[in-house]
Formats: sequence, structure tokens, C-alpha cells
Amino acid sequence: MGLFSNKISREEVKPGDHIYSWRTAYVYAHHGIYVGGGKVVHFTRGGGRETETGTFLDKFVVSSSSPNYPQCLVCKDLSSFNGDKVITSCLDCFLAGGNLYLFKYDVSWAAFLAKPRGGTCTLEPSDPPEDVLFRADFHLLLDGWFGDYDVADNNCEDFAIYCKTGLLARCNKAILGTSGQVNSAVSASFAALVLSLSGLPVAGFGVYCYARLAGDVSMRRRRGDVTKVPLERLVALLNQR
Ligand SMILES: [Zn+2]
Repeated sequence: MGLFSNKISREEVKPGDHIYSWRTAYVYAHHGIYVGGGKVVHFTRGGGRETETGTFLDKFVVSSSSPNYPQCLVCKDLSSFNGDKVITSCLDCFLAGGNLYLFKYDVSWAAFLAKPRGGTCTLEPSDPPEDVLFRADFHLLLDGWFGDYDVADNNCEDFAIYCKTGLLARCNKAILGTSGQVNSAVSASFAALVLSLSGLPVAGFGVYCYARLAGDVSMRRRRGDVTKVPLERLVALLNQR
């Protein structure tokens, strides 16, 4: 694994790792938690529709992930179901032919800003692997419930960050989810606006950096708009069932 690349080999991935794979020519990454034994737990939409945005972009994105592919014999991948669910897939189904990348935690500000785009790392440290695996299992036990999938507010990256840190947006309708890739896209368009108004590239870049840092889950925790859900609360919920 290089210093600036998050790409890893299958031999390097460990249980409790937050992994992702680019889809559709690097337009969107799908995120999940590696749980060991060649399996990944991830939040998805039925029919491989996790990238749908409800805009004209969908016709480009959805065409690459046809819901009509044959069901995997290894994991019986459930991506062909309808609805929003946390599911287990084999690594092959999760990667869908793409490369394997490791989402990094507890990175420095410099490393965070050195990344050309969001959705690849965070300033926030990860909890121990056993806590991460517990959260992933917990949502499988709840029949895959993690609320309604929303590309901006509640997506596969939000689920993986939540498993790693226990942090959830206080309000499901927050302007930005914990998702770095959505935040990065919003920051980029905001920076482009400032650039066009000021004509100063450096001003646009400064705003881009500020907006990305401000949107990172670590900064949001300090502001109090994401909050940690204690494991004890999840255990209590399980015992009520
Ligand atoms: Zn599979």
C-alpha cells in the first residue's frame, strides 16, 4: 500500500476494515465493512440502485449495474431485492470487478487535504475492530435495517463510517451526511462558485479545503451535529426483541 494510495490487495484486508470500490468510471464508490472469511457487510439499495440520485445522471450510472445479472452462488448476493438493506456479500460481488481500497481513519489534516477527492479518509479515529464488527452484525440482526437509503444523507459510506465510529447524524435530514464523497462534491461546486465570483483560484481552493474539513465527520462531531451511539444502547435494543 503506497503512502498516497488507498489501494490494497486482498491479502492485506483485515476484519473490521472499512473498504470501498469505485463504480462507473470513478463517479461513485461503494463502501462496506470487511467482516472476515471473504465477506463484506454493506448498506445497499435493491437492484444495485445505490448510486441513483433521481437526476439525469441515473441513466449513466444505473446502466453499469444492471439488476439482471445472475445471482452469485457463493454469497447469494441479495442486490436483486427491492428495498434498502444492510446485506452480506462475498468480496467479488462487493467489488463488482473493481479494485479494493481501504478507507483511512485518524489521518492528519495535511493527509486529508492532500487527497484530491473526499470519501477516502477521515480525521476521526476508528473504534476497535470488535466494536466495528458488532455494529455490522447488529444491523444484520435487525434484518438489515439502517433506515431509508439516501444518496446525500444516508448512504453506504455513512453506514461504514457509523460502523467504524458509532457516529450518526443527529437528524436524518441533515444538509450533509457523514459521507465524504457527497461532501466533497458539494465543496467542489461551492469552491467553483467562489472561484467564478472572485476570479482567484487560491480563494476557490481555500474555500474547498475549508468546506471539506468542515464537512468531515470529525469536525461535525465537535460541532455536535453527529453523535455517538453507545454499544450498550444497541445491546439493550437487541435484548428488547
Ligand atoms: Zn457473491
